[in-house]
Amino acid sequence: MLSAETIGDEDSMDIALRPVRLTDYIGQEKVKNNLAVFIAAARTRNQSLDHVLLSGPPGLGKTTLASIISQEMGSSIRRTSGPAIERPGDLAAILTNLEPGDILFIDEIHRMNRSIEEIMYPAMEDFCIDIVIGKGPAARTLQIDLPRFTLVGATTRPGLLSSPLRDRFGINFRLDFYDEVELAHIITRAASILNISIDAAGAAEIARCSRGTPRVANRLLKRVADFALVKGSGRINRKSALQALGMLEIDSHGLDMMDRMILEAIIIKFNGGPVGLETLAASVSEETDTLTDVCEPYLLKLGLINKTPRGRVATENAYRLLGLASRQTLTEPSLFEEGSQ
Ligand code: ADP
Repeated sequence: MLSAETIGDEDSMDIALRPVRLTDYIGQEKVKNNLAVFIAAARTRNQSLDHVLLSGPPGLGKTTLASIISQEMGSSIRRTSGPAIERPGDLAAILTNLEPGDILFIDEIHRMNRSIEEIMYPAMEDFCIDIVIGKGPAARTLQIDLPRFTLVGATTRPGLLSSPLRDRFGINFRLDFYDEVELAHIITRAASILNISIDAAGAAEIARCSRGTPRVANRLLKRVADFALVKGSGRINRKSALQALGMLEIDSHGLDMMDRMILEAIIIKFNGGPVGLETLAASVSEETDTLTDVCEPYLLKLGLINKTPRGRVATENAYRLLGLASRQTLTEPSLFEEGSQ
């Protein structure tokens, strides 16, 4: 069984759970099959892999896939993120320190500053950068050649990427939410690495509540294991999983308190919507980015909300889920009518 110390050690557990090879990566079959071909072709030609853009909601395995690419290509990986590259000099330092064939992973690439993005264009296309030395009339431009490297960019918001940047990625994959069978597989694999005892029905219950997301599945597994260890026999089965998920206030669709607060706000405070993003975020005391990146993709997938030009709208499914009368039969005018935003 899992000891108390190992349960607290979240970071090292996350690293232990990351699949290392493409064959260990569960689900995303199309992406995996295509990637395997592109990697094999690049290796046969003895060339670096084309630049790869990975998009999709958080926790679906973009970072994991970037490390798998480096493993499969037999090359080193350097990691950074869009917001961490503050000045052009930061990017120049990273790029000039790369070795031939290296993978440069930039997480949240949509948050990269535009002036830095412009340095990236020739770096991606021609493997060189222009550095301006000096100021005023004495300034001159120095071109520095770079080794052939592979940029792997990850983004939760592909729509925010400028088209010149997006067009320079030769490989573009969009990761989708996982189905329950794949998630149950991920949970069973993680449980065996963490030495947690779980049966198939227990894994299926956790999978059902995991919002189609491996990171959520692994997190719920650990929390349910905590409950099983402290309140039960230590083994996770259907009954102990359901009990623990109930204690965590996660419903059978995987919706948590925040999701329900969002739906309730749209329906009750804003009369079903439309309500603008900023107003909605303020009403549930949450950041707009968390709403758009974390909460909304899953609510949209379940068909509980719609996005319209005037704002977010609750669907009939949302009324049913919360056990409320449908929009048409709610006659009371809202106290907080929302205009366009
Ligand atoms: P992202 O970069 O998209 O936010 P990560 O790559 O950090 O997501 O994945 C989150 C966690 O989920 C990882 O620690 C990994 O253990 C697990 N994971 C993600 N995708 C898979 C997968 N396809 N198979 C198994 N585990 C996965």
